[in-house]
Amino acid sequence: MAYITLDKNHFFNNLDIITKLTKTKDKIALVLKDNAYGHGLLEIAGLAKEYGITKAVVRSNEEAKQIEDFFEYILVLADTATQASEKIRYTINDIYQIQKFVKGTKVELKVDTGMCRNGIMMSELEEAFTLCKKQGLELEALFTHHSSADEENKYFDVQNENFKKVKQEAKVLAKQYGFAPLRFHSANSAALFRSADFDEDMARVGIAAYGCLELSGSLHVTQLCPVLAVYAEKLSTRILQKGDCVGYGAAYETELTCKVSNYDFGYGDGFLRSCSHHYKTPEGIQIAGRISMDNSSFLSDKEKLLIFDDARVAAKFAGTISYEVLVALKAYLPRLKS
Ligand SMILES: *Cc1c(COP(=O)(O)O)cnc(C)c1O
Repeated sequence: MAYITLDKNHFFNNLDIITKLTKTKDKIALVLKDNAYGHGLLEIAGLAKEYGITKAVVRSNEEAKQIEDFFEYILVLADTATQASEKIRYTINDIYQIQKFVKGTKVELKVDTGMCRNGIMMSELEEAFTLCKKQGLELEALFTHHSSADEENKYFDVQNENFKKVKQEAKVLAKQYGFAPLRFHSANSAALFRSADFDEDMARVGIAAYGCLELSGSLHVTQLCPVLAVYAEKLSTRILQKGDCVGYGAAYETELTCKVSNYDFGYGDGFLRSCSHHYKTPEGIQIAGRISMDNSSFLSDKEKLLIFDDARVAAKFAGTISYEVLVALKAYLPRLKS
């Protein structure tokens, strides 16, 4: 079966670089949503704990429960608590969601500072405090998310300015409503790597930890190493004559006599079908025609074929971003630590 390898040294190297920016491991909240960006939830949780990471961010309650023993703090981004938990914090994504949490739930208030996606509106801040108090929730933190931390437009600065205002207002409100001092966080990977002097309480880091952050002209980014590689195993080989056509739609026609093998990694496993026709492996081996559901053909007769070891490069072939290449990888593929 096709399989994934996880390079622990690369992962720890990336965490070293991130720690230099946050100044302490305790301020890193490792984002483990979507099966840890396809790397494997439990595999990455285990490595993170070994490194000394104490905080994690996930999407659902279900994911949070699976990794409860690995971390001291878990932030759930998009789910509602069924019961209050010591370790798990829940995101308030909308003012109407507040009434759905049970008394005593630890919550973090997401504020929309300009992405126009999730979070309460800035104008709803006081109302949110009133509702949290009324509902008996433990409001611990305020956070926001950037639309353009990895792009050059005005929104990164606009959102930072807005968040500054929100922080000031929230500090006053927290006192007024009798909440403990709040924590504040806004940085994802790109925002952390862009900030000259990070001084928030936590950074929510995903793609940088997996070594696939892309930013123009940042020194640190070039030292990040991709953690994941995908290998496929050979199912069959044949020698083809000039003019033979390979796979669905007879889409690849051989120009010379050549060896073509079929490998067990297809779009059903997470090989984006848009890589068909033009994909080349890191070793320069050419794909032959269309990617099938469970397999793909290459001009090779290797037993094991490295499909990719840098999702950023694979993403270029697919016309997408590394995030999509990574999360497409199905959970059933074995993840082997190296
Ligand atoms: C996914 C996510 C992150 C992590 O983003 P990266 O670009 O992978 O670092 C941070 N915060 C929130 C709210 C997210 O949804």
